[in-house]
Amino acid sequence: MGELSFEVLKQDEETGARLGLMRTSRGDIETPYFIPVATLASVKALDAGDLASIGVQCTLANTYHLHLKPGDETIRKLGGLHKFMAFSRPIFSDSGGFQAFSLGLGREHNISKIGCIFPEGREIREKRENWTKVTEDGISFKSIYDGTWHFLDPQRSMEIQSNLGSDIIMAFDECTSPLSDYSYTKAAMDRTHAWAWQSLKHHDRNQAIYGIIQGGWFKDLRRESTDFIAELPFEGIAVGGSLGNCKKDMHQVLEWVVPRLDQRPRHLLGIGEIDDLFECIQRGIDTFDCVSPTRIARRGDLYISPQSGGRLENKFRIKIKSPQHKEDGRPVDSACGCPTCMNYSRAYLRHLYRSGELTYFRLASLHNVYFMLRLSEEIRQSIKQGTFMELKKRWLRA
Ligand SMILES: [Zn+2]
Repeated sequence: MGELSFEVLKQDEETGARLGLMRTSRGDIETPYFIPVATLASVKALDAGDLASIGVQCTLANTYHLHLKPGDETIRKLGGLHKFMAFSRPIFSDSGGFQAFSLGLGREHNISKIGCIFPEGREIREKRENWTKVTEDGISFKSIYDGTWHFLDPQRSMEIQSNLGSDIIMAFDECTSPLSDYSYTKAAMDRTHAWAWQSLKHHDRNQAIYGIIQGGWFKDLRRESTDFIAELPFEGIAVGGSLGNCKKDMHQVLEWVVPRLDQRPRHLLGIGEIDDLFECIQRGIDTFDCVSPTRIARRGDLYISPQSGGRLENKFRIKIKSPQHKEDGRPVDSACGCPTCMNYSRAYLRHLYRSGELTYFRLASLHNVYFMLRLSEEIRQSIKQGTFMELKKRWLRA
């Protein structure tokens, strides 16, 4: 058993939201928490000193990418991921199973994890080549870096995650597409269940392991998968896979799944816009991971709170390149205490962005990551004080 304990400190009376504390040998994680993603052993544009300066409690690294670059063996030889990236706090790693979707059916169907395509009545975009081959034994992936093929199965995924030396690992699974039909989703779920057993058998006992629930957006499959995974001696439970065609479907999936779970920590894989945090925490999720804060920062989108005009309609974002910020001496967000907002104006950030200055990427990423950490903290406070739904209404106005 890896070293991980979890305690629910308070359960919200009105909703499924809960305040929790995860304890690991590398530090505690107060939940609910938004985990910044360090795909390639780096939260893009930030280093470990930056992460410490904004109080990042933990991060999540990516098995598929690190296996290919620089190689998990290399990281092991250099003393493991914590030493490699000079980050001393807990690190989660995913299992590589998500790439079954992102390089496979997601790529083929040209869609993202929540395929928001049907509600708008748009046609499926042009199909692309599927870069995976799935069998009962495992998944072959084509490298996005050099086109070579690599095979992952539960045992290999556990070996790679052991080499990385992360604290909390994920069982190997197959993530399906919102466009996968019932029979394919069921077959993938059955594979995921068989692989859950094998992951438990082969995983490094120094690492805590989460099982992953699959089943797409089919009610009976989600229930079956939840009951199957929850029966196994995992230290935590992750909800993975296709979460339907829109956010409403995702909420529905959580309503099928979460009430069947016990008190172990619950992670929602790959999700994390501001409204998602509220909706999913309300339904009992403890932790999230998403690349969104750093990804949108690089594209010039910066988060703002309701005090600075952030609303669901503008996705709580401003576009820093907009001419209206040319002589805007205000910080990005007046309610934010991050190093960027404490020192720099929107006008300066716009200037850096438009000039292609590298400093922009660091300052923008610092703000967006801090913003999500701060929101997590505000949500924790609200659960503590019994005002979670008030806070949600203040942000989402719904
Ligand atoms: Zn800020």
